[in-house]
Amino acid sequence: MLRARRPHPALRATLPLEGEGLRRGLARAGRRAYDGGMETVVDIAAIRAAMEDWYNRCARNLPWRQRRDPYAIWISEVMLQQTRVATVTGYYRRFLQRFPTAEALAAAPLSAVLKAWEGMGYYSRARNLHAAARKLAADFGGKLPADVASLRSLPGVGPYTAAAVASIAFGLDEAVVDGNVARVLARVFLIRRNVKLPAVHRRLVELAGSLVPPGKAGMMNQALMDLGATVCTPRGPRCDDCPLRRFCLALAAGCQNDLPVKPPRKTTPHYDVAVGVVVKAGRVLIDLRKPEGLLGGLWEFPGGKRGAGESLEHAVVREVREEVGIEVEPTALLAVVRHAYTHFRITMHAYECRHMSGRARPIACDAVKWVHLSRLDDYAFPKANHKVIAALRERRG
Ligand code: SF4
Repeated sequence: MLRARRPHPALRATLPLEGEGLRRGLARAGRRAYDGGMETVVDIAAIRAAMEDWYNRCARNLPWRQRRDPYAIWISEVMLQQTRVATVTGYYRRFLQRFPTAEALAAAPLSAVLKAWEGMGYYSRARNLHAAARKLAADFGGKLPADVASLRSLPGVGPYTAAAVASIAFGLDEAVVDGNVARVLARVFLIRRNVKLPAVHRRLVELAGSLVPPGKAGMMNQALMDLGATVCTPRGPRCDDCPLRRFCLALAAGCQNDLPVKPPRKTTPHYDVAVGVVVKAGRVLIDLRKPEGLLGGLWEFPGGKRGAGESLEHAVVREVREEVGIEVEPTALLAVVRHAYTHFRITMHAYECRHMSGRARPIACDAVKWVHLSRLDDYAFPKANHKVIAALRERRG
């Protein structure tokens, strides 16, 4: 049971306790945790017991929880970083069928890995998984290492993924804080600062660490994730059903809907993009994006951003010339596709084009290919291009 040393209004007073001071305080107090603004004495054992009891009854039945294979757990954690559980489930099953081990993943060409990832977005995750699998095969006998430092040495494995794999797959006492956990902790401990700030995030990790029962970090991490996903949701948290309601300072203060504090949303820029769908003798021209950066390693139709004051038709002709070195003439508007990326939005205007002159070659891309319409599915394309392909097939029968 929570015993605040002062009544709730006083929780807003400040008594900075972070970093080494926090660690010393936790070590001294044993059963205490501290929020960012003030010392709060909580019954850690009671919180742990409440969470374990709730998790035993209410844990989500997720496919990656049915096997203890560290490789499978790693794949699921990477997929879940930017993608919803409902979407990940199908991808996870297909990916593990196609690449059942790190060795199988390492032996596959990157194009096959990107094809398996196609549609899930954030393709740097797939590229890093592939590079990490090759490092596992080369340096670790094809197995995930059972320590955080070695896990961190793998491409794409940051503090979160390393802690998640270490705790869930290997039972190490490592706490994780993803968006769901941050929300739960910000509410339970009444943290009124922007949870995206590095200092606040570090404090959340320390708080989460203080809640981890020795030897049961995997359980506690997944319990907090599940609680955030199913009960302590961003809008309308179901506090009546929550195992932490007795301890929750935000609920006591009546401000659970105002937390966590996040930075104000930035307005996302919008770009008009013009692409050329150049068809000749039943084949269409596609090009391979450079391996680094947004959508790296995926195939697409040549094109790019419209310049200021430029017509879309002119942009198509210019972009195709700059990217693959041929002259084209737009003949018809094939599709208009709107798509949102993390930091910007686009409207893609896809023009069917006639090839006028020149031999296609990679200039601002890594490769070019003339591909029969029926073989386009062999290549991994960004989502927006799929809508263009559908429009092309409809038009061409
Ligand atoms: S009591 Fe409500 S706000 Fe507090 S952790 Fe539970 S669901 Fe979240």
